[in-house]
Amino acid sequence: MLDYIIVGSGLSGIAISEKLLAKDKKILVFDDNSQSSSTVAGGIYNPVILKRFTLAWNANEQLDIALSFYGSLEKKLNINLVQALPIYRRFHSIEEQNNWFSAMDKPYLSRFLDEKLVSTINPHIPSSHSFGLVKETGVINTEILLEKYRDYLAEINSFQQETFDFDHLKINEDHYTYKNWKAKKIIFCDGFGLKKNPYFNYLPLNGNKGEYLIIKAEGLKLEVAVKSSVFIIPLGNDLYKVGATYNNWDKSKEPTEDGKNYLLEKLNGFLKCDFEVVDQVAGIRPATNDRKPLVGQHPEYDNMYCCNGFGSRGVLIGPTVASELISNIEDSIPLSEEIDIRRFAKLYQTASL
Ligand SMILES: Cc1cc2nc3c(=O)[nH]c(=O)nc-3n(C[C@H](O)[C@H](O)[C@H](O)COP(=O)(O)OP(=O)(O)OC[C@H]3O[C@@H](n4cnc5c(N)ncnc54)[C@H](O)[C@@H]3O)c2cc1C
Repeated sequence: MLDYIIVGSGLSGIAISEKLLAKDKKILVFDDNSQSSSTVAGGIYNPVILKRFTLAWNANEQLDIALSFYGSLEKKLNINLVQALPIYRRFHSIEEQNNWFSAMDKPYLSRFLDEKLVSTINPHIPSSHSFGLVKETGVINTEILLEKYRDYLAEINSFQQETFDFDHLKINEDHYTYKNWKAKKIIFCDGFGLKKNPYFNYLPLNGNKGEYLIIKAEGLKLEVAVKSSVFIIPLGNDLYKVGATYNNWDKSKEPTEDGKNYLLEKLNGFLKCDFEVVDQVAGIRPATNDRKPLVGQHPEYDNMYCCNGFGSRGVLIGPTVASELISNIEDSIPLSEEIDIRRFAKLYQTASL
């Protein structure tokens, strides 16, 4: 008898798996690569919303928890995951510069916004206004994390590379049966795959498609991330990620010509050096209207849970929210109301009518 079946090994499934393994639970994780949000993510951890200069939801608390979580995974998997990387916000007007200084007076933001503005950061990214430095930011190499974590799960016989087929799930009085496996509990960490999940698809999850270009720019020599109309994130070897797009309408997984043209138009607006596009990637962010995660127990079935809705901030949100869910299940510590899916109980009643 397994303690838990986990469906999905993106940022959510990995954080959930780690919390359970730390409690010596016997787990089995399914993944079929049907979603790619965690793999293609920029991997940025940045507590500040750079459009409005506000603190992202609970980000100052999540940051410390996330860094310690990914740091411990680096040791466990013997890989480099965390790279501190300053982010420079390129201002487009004097008003934006003034907003930066006003934001510094807001609670918690002075920790992250540098008071000294910089006039130039790179000869190929000119600006008539200054740049503001966001402190304590960086990137997690999510592609390596997902690959190595799945290898690790496979080594401990806890990974099944296959589609979790809901037709094979049987709900018994005190356990679940799936094909030849039995498990006491099941947690769905299926990202935008939730739309095909008959138990949780009543939840208001909106896919938001994001695309990145990978460019090669040999002359650029940029060692910091820059946020202008889009981000430029250095990857090493003269490669850079450029993006991302935000699209609420297109739910297809493939990169698009429209996405490419949009990003090129933005990039050409501020990058003044030669470059070539070498790749393009896309994924669907599991986003919610209230911008809070979707976490907790199914309204009808005991011991069936979901951990989803990380939107565009899975790197920071994942470790904190996974920890809350496991403390809730294992130690009966109540979930905070703002993430608990009980806030959508009425939607379940309506869907069941
Ligand atoms: C272009 C882009 C850029 C981003 N940049 C950042 C960033 O810089 N920083 C940041 O914090 N966040 C970023 N995000 C958001 C971040 O990627 C998400 O918040 C996060 O990846 C969500 O993780 P998840 O595990 O919930 O979902 P997913 O990553 O989608 O994982 C769900 C997993 O479940 C599996 N699955 C689903 N259904 C089934 C099934 N039936 N059977 C088996 N397996 C199944 C899928 O294959 C997938 O591996 C970005 C997203 C995109 C698209």
